[in-house]
Amino acid sequence: MRPLIAVVLIACLAAAGTSLAASASRQEYLLAVTHDLPPVAKEAVQRIDDPPRQLLAVRGYLRAGEQLSSRWSWSAEEIRAYEASAEYRDLLAEIAVVAARFEAQNPGYSLYANTVARSLDLQLQRWNSNGSVGVIAGRLQEAALRELSGGAYPAHPDAKATVRFANFLRAWRPTPAAAPLAVPGLSLHGRSRAVDFQIEQNGRIIAPTEVAKVRSAWEQRGWARKLAAAMRHTRFVGPLQAPNEPWHYEYEPRAERSERGSNEP
Ligand SMILES: [Zn+2]
Repeated sequence: MRPLIAVVLIACLAAAGTSLAASASRQEYLLAVTHDLPPVAKEAVQRIDDPPRQLLAVRGYLRAGEQLSSRWSWSAEEIRAYEASAEYRDLLAEIAVVAARFEAQNPGYSLYANTVARSLDLQLQRWNSNGSVGVIAGRLQEAALRELSGGAYPAHPDAKATVRFANFLRAWRPTPAAAPLAVPGLSLHGRSRAVDFQIEQNGRIIAPTEVAKVRSAWEQRGWARKLAAAMRHTRFVGPLQAPNEPWHYEYEPRAERSERGSNEP
């Protein structure tokens, strides 16, 4: 083998070795920062298909901190119990108030609200398959590999390096926009603390809960503004700003009726 080719070959092998070492190390650091999460979150991480999406979820769990357990989505059993509760009847009554007002203000159109709590299974299924989540997770993965190769981290995580990496994950911000889904287990839909509304005309949905329709259906045709008008002085607060979801309103069961629901310019 001629010397130049040998040198190039060795350089290539070394580069491949480095990236393999980096991703093995990334996996070790992922395990290290996952170690102290509550059991429900650890189980959820194991049900996420690929390492970048796992990493993005772990970031969300670290950011939720001590609120994680109180925000965690209900089980199927808890959802059934909720649907038999007075609180659920209150929610349905509040939606009926909003729907009646909306229909009075917009003759010929009606509101559709899905009040079924979104189970952890469904949240995981969407997290594993959503394309935008995959893109953002890939960006976090690249940033994490850069962070770990920066020289401040030993090959195997010790306590200090684990804290450092956890802080990096907490501080990382997705650009240009947040993921279109909450981290599995932490969606407000998982405890019926959020409701998505859609606009119907003659039984057909004309303003759906689709990111691609935000501009054309919700903003240009004015449905975002009209829905917000129907929400005033109710227990619904919103809509969600980041990401921009004009259909997503938070529900505050114990809150006093206030004017916080008004978000119009
Ligand atoms: Zn929503």
